[in-house]
Parts: sequence; structure tokens; C-alpha cells
Amino acid sequence: MCQYEVDPLLSKASIMAKYANLEPLDGKVMAEYIWIDGFNHIRSKTMTLDQKPKSLEDLRVWNFDGSSTGQAPGYNSDTLLKPVAMYRDPIRRGDNILVLAACYTADGSANHFNHRDGCVKLMEKHASQDIWFGIEQEYTMLDYYDRPFGWPKGGFPGPQGPFYCGVGTGNVFARDIVEAHYKACLYAGINISGVNAEVMPSQWEYQVGPCRGIQMGDELWMSRFLLHRIAEDFGVKISFHPKPILGDWNGAGCHTNVSTKDSRAEGGMKAIEQYLEKFAKRHMDHIKVYGDDNDLRLTGKHETGTIEQFNYGIADRGASVRIPRSVAMKGCGYFEDRRPASSIDPYLVTGIITETMFEF
Ligand code: ADP
Ligand code: MN
Ligand code: MN
Ligand code: MN
Ligand code: MN
Repeated sequence: MCQYEVDPLLSKASIMAKYANLEPLDGKVMAEYIWIDGFNHIRSKTMTLDQKPKSLEDLRVWNFDGSSTGQAPGYNSDTLLKPVAMYRDPIRRGDNILVLAACYTADGSANHFNHRDGCVKLMEKHASQDIWFGIEQEYTMLDYYDRPFGWPKGGFPGPQGPFYCGVGTGNVFARDIVEAHYKACLYAGINISGVNAEVMPSQWEYQVGPCRGIQMGDELWMSRFLLHRIAEDFGVKISFHPKPILGDWNGAGCHTNVSTKDSRAEGGMKAIEQYLEKFAKRHMDHIKVYGDDNDLRLTGKHETGTIEQFNYGIADRGASVRIPRSVAMKGCGYFEDRRPASSIDPYLVTGIITETMFEF
């Protein structure tokens, strides 16, 4: 993994240990600005601050070359980074911080790939409904050569069965990365609510939520940054492709759980049914923003509904939307939209769900 020729008696870890605890002389702080690029991926760069910021207002708008990230043409490349959320930095620790930034052009308009801007407006407009989301982020670990991590070279592992929530060698892969990511999210203050190994070997899930409104997209993107960044330390790639391996292997989704003030109140099932009747009418509009290549995943097999048709059911993992059994029994609570692919932009998905529930 180490690209450098080093004394064989020294490990990279022991070399790095010399620098790990270096503190700046004068209280300076590193702020990692993180943003979404033109390829639905993440970029980041670091700024030195004179002191630890107390709030977002202490952070300045920065800029970068949008022509190098697929976000702007070369002749007008300066793209602005507006800080929108701040977290403790589990990689650098101390007073250092992670800054989620949204991209704008010089004239103040949202960058073409900034879907947060529209989402904020929707969430503010419907704040009185106090919408909560919980997203189940599935992903696949790949080695440097894009093979599923830990799969036998040139072959396949045994058929699916022992891997979901698996325990023990051969049943799970790279739990150390999962554990490191889990702890890092908790340190940062991300509302990660759990993790589990998935049905396909080397595929994992973590859940973020319940989160209020815009916070859902913000925390999910920050959790993805941490996942990529930590896997980088291990030389492992993270894929959010919805069907990384064709054939009899489960795809990867981002089940999106939703509740509102009305759905959580007594008799809330009625509100849920009203929302879902609207969902049925706008199925294809939703599918358009539920991720590329999602047709490879939504086949009606492997615990998915078919992409052509919307349906919902109680406890049905083959439906587009599932109402958990416990919710049906209680008569109120939340529902689970199972259609979104693992690669979604959560701002688009939470946005269209809000729009369909309250503006359609
Ligand atoms: P499953 O795998 O059975 O579909 P998980 O336990 O993986 O379910 O995920 C459930 C998700 O639902 C979590 O992200 C959680 O935050 C979210 N959730 C729970 N209650 C609510 C609620 N009232 N509103 C919105 N999301 C909720
Ligand atoms: Mn430069
Ligand atoms: Mn789950
Ligand atoms: Mn899952
Ligand atoms: Mn689910």
C-alpha cells in the first residue's frame, strides 16, 4: 500500500506516529471544505484558520476551479464554496473541523450540481410539517482493481445466504473499515443510527437518521465523505453503484424512510395512504431522480419492486414502498421508500418526496 521505498524495519504507521501529535504553535486550525462535484462524487481541500470558529458565520466563502471538477467551463471557472454545516473532524481531531460547502457561481446562483439550494427552499416552506427522514445507505467495497473486496481472485464466493448480518471469517469482509467509519461518524456528531453487513459479500449498510428536513442530505453527504476518506486509509474503494455485480447478487439502495407531523400523530396511517396515492401518480418523476442504472437493480427480484410500476404494502420488501408492520399495527408512524439507488443525491430525493406529499 505504501508507495515509498522505506527502511523495511520501519512501518508507515511508525513513521506517521512521529507527526500525529504535532500541535500548531499558535492555535491555528485546519478546516476541510467538502463539496459535491459534477460527477456526483466528493471533493475537498483544506484552509488554515487563525482560530477555532464558533459558528458557521466565522467561516468564509471560498472558491475553487470548477473546470477541474466537471462543474464549470474553463472560461468562467471560479466556483464559490458557501459553508452550510460544520462537524468535528475525526481524522485530524483537536479543534480541526469538517465544513460542508454548497457550490454557487459568481452571480449568486446555485451551481448546476448544487441540488441543496432547491431542497432548502422546499424544507423551509414545509417546516410546519416537521418532516423526518432516515436513509439506509448501502455500499460495496472494491479493491484497487475494482473487484469486490475479499472475493476470491478470478472467481466468486459461495451463494448469498451467510453474509447478511454475518459474523465470522468468510462471512464478513473488512469489518475494521466499517467500525472505523461508525466511530468517526459518532465523533463528528452525525446521527448514524446503526450498521449491518448486507446480503452480498463485501456489501454493507449504515443508517443515518431520523434527521429533520435539510439535515438529512447534509449528514448523509458528510458520512459518505468520511467513508471514502477512511477507506482510502485502507486502500479500499467505496462503490455506490446500484448493481455493482450483475447476476444473482443483491444491488445497493438507499431506502428512504419518511414521517411527518401528521403521519406520526394518532391515526397517521390515513396521511401515509394519502401521500402514497400521490406517489403512485408520480412514480416516473421520482424514478428520474432516484439514481442512474437503477433499472439494473429494480427488477422485482432481490428484495426490490419493478421499476415500471408503483405499489406499496405492509411488511412487503418486494414493493416500491413498505409500511413497516409495527407502523400498521400502531396506526401511525413512517413509511419506507425502497426505490432510491445507493448513488442518489439525497437532496433530490428528500426534495421530490416533500414536493409530492405537499405540492402535488
Ligand atoms: P430496515 O432494514 O428494516 O428497512 P433499518 O433499521 O435499516 O430498517 O432503518 C430504519 C430507518 O428508519 C432508520 O434510518 C431510522 O432512522 C428511520 N426511521 C425510524 N423512525 C422514523 C421516523 N419516524 N421517521 C423517519 N425515519 C424513521
Ligand atoms: Mn493552486
Ligand atoms: Mn436496513
Ligand atoms: Mn439493506
Ligand atoms: Mn430498508
